Amino acid sequence: MSDRPLRLRFAPSPTGFFHVGGARTALYNWAIALRLGGTFVLRIEDTDEARNQPEWTQGIIDALAWIGIHADDDHFEGPYFQSSYADQHVAAAQRLFEAGVAYYCDLSGDEVQARAKASGTPGYDGYSRDRGLEPGPGRVLRFRVPEGTTVVHDLVRGEVSFENANIEDFVLLRGNGSPMFLLANVVDDITMQISHVVRAEEHLPNTPKQQMLWQALGAEPPVWAHVPVLVNEQRKKLSKRRDKVAVEQYRGEGYLSDALVNYLMTLGWAPGGDTEIVPWSSIVGEFRLEDVNHSPAFFDLKKLAAFNGEYIRALALDEFIETCAPFVLASDVPWNAEQFNPVVFSAIAPLVQTRIARLDEVAPMVDFLFLADAPIDEAAFAKTMAGPNSTALLTEVIDAFESAEWDHDSLKETLEAIGDGFQLKLGKAQAPVRVAVTGRTVGPPLFESLVLLGRDETLRRLRAALGHVRTAPE
Ligand code: GLU
Repeated sequence: MSDRPLRLRFAPSPTGFFHVGGARTALYNWAIALRLGGTFVLRIEDTDEARNQPEWTQGIIDALAWIGIHADDDHFEGPYFQSSYADQHVAAAQRLFEAGVAYYCDLSGDEVQARAKASGTPGYDGYSRDRGLEPGPGRVLRFRVPEGTTVVHDLVRGEVSFENANIEDFVLLRGNGSPMFLLANVVDDITMQISHVVRAEEHLPNTPKQQMLWQALGAEPPVWAHVPVLVNEQRKKLSKRRDKVAVEQYRGEGYLSDALVNYLMTLGWAPGGDTEIVPWSSIVGEFRLEDVNHSPAFFDLKKLAAFNGEYIRALALDEFIETCAPFVLASDVPWNAEQFNPVVFSAIAPLVQTRIARLDEVAPMVDFLFLADAPIDEAAFAKTMAGPNSTALLTEVIDAFESAEWDHDSLKETLEAIGDGFQLKLGKAQAPVRVAVTGRTVGPPLFESLVLLGRDETLRRLRAALGHVRTAPE
């Protein structure tokens, strides 16, 4: 087996957004292909016509490219489309029928169930095994599961034994002649000379059946590796109905692809050193399927955000500014292209960079610099202004700011002195000024922000805030 050329595959079904679990599986395959000089085959399993959409396929290809798996890389082959190979799937089934390892059955699904119920044994009972039926409309082709035990050698899970007695004679071709997933998947893997099947653990129960098919079709089964399921905080399997699973969504929220990739790799595996935050090149150098853990992996959003924050902070400033572009120039930001000032943004950027975990936090943090009427967090505003000295303090601040030197240190000293008069520490004294000027209680450092905003605009907002306090409903 070891002298077979290393050929891995990623075989998603294009039935929805690209799931983070799929991305992790793809990355595991990709890392091995890169480390050992193998080939990564992308096969789109698009045989479920009712659920497939071409845009999902494009979404997968785009998302793969975003996480670094590029179709133009030498290690990449495909995409192949499973639906183009239906003839081969049917031909393989035909061979199995002719060899006597598959047989036709004319029972309907209901009849199979009725028999199972009557006998008290679940599953199909082999009713047509020896009836010698020829193909015909409505007849399904079933695989004749031999007696014995099927042992799957799995790089992640070790040796897993399945009693064949518990495996029913499964269907290869439906009553309308179309191939089932189990068959199509194996025939394609054989045709594409796949040496390693690395995929989600949910397919482990299929594996003994598929291994039998490999053997019945005269091929040497691949190396199997079933990677652990991803679970949410409640230890439930990540699902698109319950959880945020779409890679596209993480991208849209401003996760960096390097951070997401690094985090996904650690779901079931850990790099050797004392930190899990490691560059892709080290991951490729170190990653081995034998080291993948088989217990469910917790997809921890907080940890992912922490990874992302680290990756954001590690960017050079110009890279950070460039990376922010889609988030500050997008069509859904609250300012228009004329209001956005790239010089001001570049000046505030280093202060924002250290304070965020996601790029979608940037716009709400800097909007006050570009919008004359920045959105006001009314609840926070009301709470801050309700403080006993807030309006008196603001009145004094307006007075003092009219003549203060307009630089960081002078503004800070001015506010400190005013705060002293009210027995307020600087942090407390800043709160009403910040909410008055920015509309929010958190944001980039205050004095740097005021310097950028300028005296006139700062004073205008401080006065407007006092007016807002007076007109606010009780
Ligand atoms: N198309 C299958 C899925 O998306 C993958 C099957 C496999 O990897 O063998 O779950």
